Amino acid sequence: MSNASADPTAEAGAKGECPGPVREAIPAREMALGDLAILRLLPAPKRRLVGAWCLLDAFGPLAFRDGKPMNVPPHPHIGLQTVTWLLDGEVLHRDSLGCEEMARPGTLNLMTSGRGIAHSEETPPGHSGRLEGVQLWVALPQSDRHVEPSFEHHAGLPVVERPGLRATVVLGSLAGTRSPGLAFSPIVGADVEVEAGARAALPLDPAFEHAALLLRGHGEVAGGPLTGATLLHLGAGRSEVELRTAPGEPLRVLLLGGAPFGEAVLMWWNFVARTADEIREARDDWQAGRRFGEVKAYPGQRLDAPPFVARPVPSPDSR
Ligand code: MN
Repeated sequence: MSNASADPTAEAGAKGECPGPVREAIPAREMALGDLAILRLLPAPKRRLVGAWCLLDAFGPLAFRDGKPMNVPPHPHIGLQTVTWLLDGEVLHRDSLGCEEMARPGTLNLMTSGRGIAHSEETPPGHSGRLEGVQLWVALPQSDRHVEPSFEHHAGLPVVERPGLRATVVLGSLAGTRSPGLAFSPIVGADVEVEAGARAALPLDPAFEHAALLLRGHGEVAGGPLTGATLLHLGAGRSEVELRTAPGEPLRVLLLGGAPFGEAVLMWWNFVARTADEIREARDDWQAGRRFGEVKAYPGQRLDAPPFVARPVPSPDSR
């Protein structure tokens, strides 16, 4: 997915910030990705990162007959991983390495851009007529952000089961269970399903900060209701989180977490970097057809980068 807006350069990740347990509601912003309406939960003006998670978009549920609600032409990335996780429908990924893979519910599409990759994402022909899911970016730490690009597709992800809940571990590790997806920092992303009428406790790493997003249903997380179109930031220092549901009402939650990232990140368009010069160079390389390669299988034109206007002093509220 493309960030798709020429947001000004903005700073993320106050160094080593670790606020302890909180319960802070971060409202989503309504945005458009081409014709697709999305809710952007991260980055938010007051919360740019949760661990290394630096972007979270949610879309759907959508029912359609014609057209391609997801249609993001080839565009470049640096310094991040993309995670596509669907609850319903299909998204076809193609990239400049020649990888082509269909994301479906229960499968993980994980792309590591490292120094540079280009990809497209689109609703495929022969689709189910439904679309619902999330797309996330993970910031790569300084030591790994220039690695060679790669793409992984995983089906049959591991599951953590506790009385009243099952949690699919999408990325990183949860309660000692690890996703096969390549991770570069201590992190967790999990799809947590809570039975109706349950009171369940999910073990957490107290060194991580965590956040939760309502995917489906109704319930309480960490002692209060989880409302839609809101990212619930839970802070750090929790060794477990309680999830409660009413009889007849199951709950599905996206749990994100990770060690506080500790590096100030510069995000612009589809790039995660550290300096404005790096971003300008990546933009110039994309516009000139260097570095990122071509998504040869995509039937159409690639995206043009917006003009780059550097801000002299990036600030957390510059977006
Ligand atoms: Mn993308």
